[in-house]
Amino acid sequence: MAKYVYDFTEGNRNLKDLLGGKGANLAEMTNLGLPVPHGFTITTEACRHYLAEGSVPSGLDQEVAEHLEALEAKMGRKLGQADDPLLVSVRSGAKFSMPGMMETVLNIGLNDESVHGLAKQSGGNDRFAWDSYRRLIQMFGKTVLGIDGDLFEHALDELKGRRQDTDLDSGELQQLVETYKGIVRDQTGKDFPADPREQMRLAVMAVFDSWNAPRAILYRRQERIPAGLGTAVNIMAMVFGNYGNDSGTGVAFTRDPGSGQQGIYGDYLQNAQGEDVVAGIRNTIPLQDLEHLDKQSYDELVGIMETLENHYRDLCDIEFTIERGKLWMLQTRVGKRTAAAAFCIATQLADQGLITMDEAVTRVTGDQLAQLMFPRFDGGAKKKKKIAKGMNASPGAAVGKAVFSSERAVELAAQGEDVILVRRETNPDDLAGMIAAKGILTSRGGKTSHAAVVARGMGKTCVCGAEELEVLTAEQRFIAPGDVVVSEGDVISIDGTTGEVFLGEVAVVDSAVVEYFEGATEPRDDLVKAVDRIMRHADEARKLGVRANADTPEDAARARRFGAQGIGLCRTEHMFLGERRQLVEDLVLASTDAERQAALDALEPLQKSDFIGIFQAMDGAPVTIRLIDPPLHEFLPDIVDLSVKVATGEATDKDRTLLTAVKRLHEQNPMLGLRGVRLGLVIPGLFAMQVRAIAQAAAEVPGARPEIMIPLVAAVQELESVREEAVKILAEAGVQALIGTMIEVPRAALTAAQIAEAAEFFSFGTNDLTQMAWGFSRDDVEAAFFSHYLDAGIFGVSPFETLDREGVGRLMEIAVREGREARPDLHLGICGEHGGDPDSVRFCHEVGLDYVSCSPFRIPVARLEAGRAALAETDSDTR
Ligand code: PEP
Ligand code: MG
Repeated sequence: MAKYVYDFTEGNRNLKDLLGGKGANLAEMTNLGLPVPHGFTITTEACRHYLAEGSVPSGLDQEVAEHLEALEAKMGRKLGQADDPLLVSVRSGAKFSMPGMMETVLNIGLNDESVHGLAKQSGGNDRFAWDSYRRLIQMFGKTVLGIDGDLFEHALDELKGRRQDTDLDSGELQQLVETYKGIVRDQTGKDFPADPREQMRLAVMAVFDSWNAPRAILYRRQERIPAGLGTAVNIMAMVFGNYGNDSGTGVAFTRDPGSGQQGIYGDYLQNAQGEDVVAGIRNTIPLQDLEHLDKQSYDELVGIMETLENHYRDLCDIEFTIERGKLWMLQTRVGKRTAAAAFCIATQLADQGLITMDEAVTRVTGDQLAQLMFPRFDGGAKKKKKIAKGMNASPGAAVGKAVFSSERAVELAAQGEDVILVRRETNPDDLAGMIAAKGILTSRGGKTSHAAVVARGMGKTCVCGAEELEVLTAEQRFIAPGDVVVSEGDVISIDGTTGEVFLGEVAVVDSAVVEYFEGATEPRDDLVKAVDRIMRHADEARKLGVRANADTPEDAARARRFGAQGIGLCRTEHMFLGERRQLVEDLVLASTDAERQAALDALEPLQKSDFIGIFQAMDGAPVTIRLIDPPLHEFLPDIVDLSVKVATGEATDKDRTLLTAVKRLHEQNPMLGLRGVRLGLVIPGLFAMQVRAIAQAAAEVPGARPEIMIPLVAAVQELESVREEAVKILAEAGVQALIGTMIEVPRAALTAAQIAEAAEFFSFGTNDLTQMAWGFSRDDVEAAFFSHYLDAGIFGVSPFETLDREGVGRLMEIAVREGREARPDLHLGICGEHGGDPDSVRFCHEVGLDYVSCSPFRIPVARLEAGRAALAETDSDTR
């Protein structure tokens, strides 16, 4: 029979799929002998069953009852027992952390009787007991019963007037409980459930349901967390951080999640319960200050932090509570960190001997490296405009118009505006705005507040806790020191690396990491040194070569500096634009062989000089040159413009001839029309001109290694005739070059064995291959319906961004296998946009390609991911 419930003593950290991250790590800490309150976890499998069937699996209630009894026995009191109640928390916890996106209910087990028992337990602290009870009704009402949370907030505000929560006495809190119970009755038509077991049962189902809350769905999509995983539910004996000043709750990191520096980082909130810290509602004190408040708990915590780091061999984040001087661990996990911290921590851990350099490479990602390559603010420009400083919560440089609500952020971003979302503090409902914004600025909350945690997870620039700012959300403005007023629409710049806030637009400059890749600087600062070490190790490990998509000598040179081992795609059509467009027009308009030849003769020396430049820049590395690919009418004037000219009588004779040609060449589906190899076969002399230019250029540049690539081949016969001509031209020039093809058409992939007979290499053009495998136009569909498909879960991610392994990937697998069977030394690469996408690079490694080719800026990312793919058996997943 399936087992749906695990005591904390039964699980371990490897059971994240089943117990969720929180449950698995609570079990791990329990096994390590750390002070974890007793409890148990209901599995994700139970949740999946509930979500699919609409009811809990049979046997679950019985299992929960048994585990609850065992918990009661350990604690020596029963759930909700009138004179001495056991109270529990019911917390969500999915495999991947989704901070604040799902639900939690605390203080389960309180009712009109047990509230007195709790008061007795707490040594006659009536105020505490009634406060806990009103918190239960409030949280339960909102989360489990779906009542608008504002109703409770308003009732609380009304009662306290201008006073703080803490000023309410027990009589007033008791009165508030009655008001809250009234709200529940009014809103649901039923009484607040007094039965503790019923409270627990309903809370468990509410946590299950919260898996599909809109903000959870949005977060999963953003973080690419599969929708079908479900959440586990952790039921744990309550410990109280709100007993008084000898109690409190906090969050700690074993290293600085912003920079990676070792030390004690975190926030502490005295006399507070659970979520208060993460929600950023009250300002916290730095964790170090706990040493003065409660040295014994502080020392114990520091010891546990060291134990956890050594055990997990990684940065851990921790949630803890101190109840009347006794420390309790409520959660730990391998913590989220910024990209910079990820690199620094990985190399530090290797230096400490906790991990190997191989592991260090797998601890960072290509996406993180890409973040480090974003520009940063120009130091000089910054000085002039600084208006405030907050905490450097998530690095980067962001410039945009200030907006004060999530909705406005979404609205303006949809109009193409860059916006900075400014809030007093963010909460999970702000997620859509945070995604839409370039950066996030808050005036309250620490490095562990919701805004900070979520922004770091998304790699979005964030400055939080800029307390000098008075944020007036309703008035859509904020006031900075010196009476600087920033209203909606005013441009601000925020620096997530330093925490600074600037008025107006600050100029940005290249990142230090890019400067290092450019070879401009020796690795000096810790971050660049860490990047350098990890890149060297990844390069040693990787099996995939990395080439660049580059069409100009400048791009080729940059690609080389960034570590490209060749050019995998030189698109020649870009060379026919500008002044040369005229020559293409002549070619299209030629009515005799002589006219056509004259146009080609004029193009040839220009092409030759293009190729000389690129061969020189690549200095003996291979250069794959693709012969012209797009339909020729792309080089002609627009049909509408010409028609208007003709209609208004402004057209010249040439315009009229051009219009006729444009009409002749017009296609309903140009992407499926006269392009690629088809052009080469239909327009005599076009491909021959290009091959001759390549051969002559190669003959003039010592060491040049051209590879000639034919686009859009679907049948071997197409390739054979182009190849025959090319071989002849190369022989005449005495130049050696591989001749190969792109695999962009599904038929080519499916007939790879035949095509390999005439091709020395294949390069997968996965832009076209994706378009043709799915049957949708890459130019049209992203705007037309991709967001709908993403919303509907048809895509987890756009197949133009990350290779669709099941469809396009399968075509590639077939082509790799059958191509290599036919020609064992067939050289295989990819040059679609996917060549620089981390997940796709991994796939290319798995199917055994020889290289990936991507835009110059993505080359370091591809190098790193290729190294990770070669090294990683399992991933250290910190989501
Ligand atoms: C491709 O189709 O993947 C490719 C690289 O060619 P292009 O994008 O130029 O069509
Ligand atoms: Mg293509």
